[in-house]
Amino acid sequence: MWNGLDKLLELQRLDQAIARLEAEGRAIPQEIQALEARLTEARAGLDQAKAKADQIQKERRAKERELDEATINTKKKQARLFEIKTNEEYSAVLKEIESLKEKSSKLEEEILNLLERGDVAAKTVTDAEKGFKAAEALHQNERTEKEGQLARLRQELAILQEARKGQASRLDTDLLRQYTRLRKSRGVAVVAVKDGSCGGCGISLTPQTYTEVRRNDRMFTCSSCNRILYFAG
Ligand SMILES: [Zn+2]
Repeated sequence: MWNGLDKLLELQRLDQAIARLEAEGRAIPQEIQALEARLTEARAGLDQAKAKADQIQKERRAKERELDEATINTKKKQARLFEIKTNEEYSAVLKEIESLKEKSSKLEEEILNLLERGDVAAKTVTDAEKGFKAAEALHQNERTEKEGQLARLRQELAILQEARKGQASRLDTDLLRQYTRLRKSRGVAVVAVKDGSCGGCGISLTPQTYTEVRRNDRMFTCSSCNRILYFAG
């Protein structure tokens, strides 16, 4: 094996492990955000249910006040009947009482209907409250778990980065520079040859080159993508 290959492969292994952890680390805050969004949705559902129940209650109270007024008016007009002298006025007031009674019975019906709708709305609020509480508990658990995950990941990452630093210092400066350049431009710098081809870009090697790369006794780079080639056995 050519000098530096095993160190280079170990460095690449560490870099890949670091990249994986960093990607995971980037995903976790997004996952936490998704949890927040779910909770916000549950809260919005609860608020909406409460607003609807309030609205129905308001409407019912307004109708109840209207009904009270109509009842008082009816009583007043009934009392007036005894003081009326003319037939015309008497029948006019009777008509007004009749119309007030009609109004009252219509209001009573509407109030009953609003009471029923209010019951349904109250049940929806209870259900939404349960839903919200469940979402909140789940959110708390999952959030704690994700935050724990993130903390563990950062620890692991720190250990890997330390190891990476040590490993990089073991490499020959020129080789490290070449690796760093390739890693930047190609993502993966060192690739195994597979079935006579570069494992990075897929180009076929000449049989001569392939035979030589297989020996792993000196460094070869791909003529097409410049990646460092080796034979994995
Ligand atoms: Zn290549």
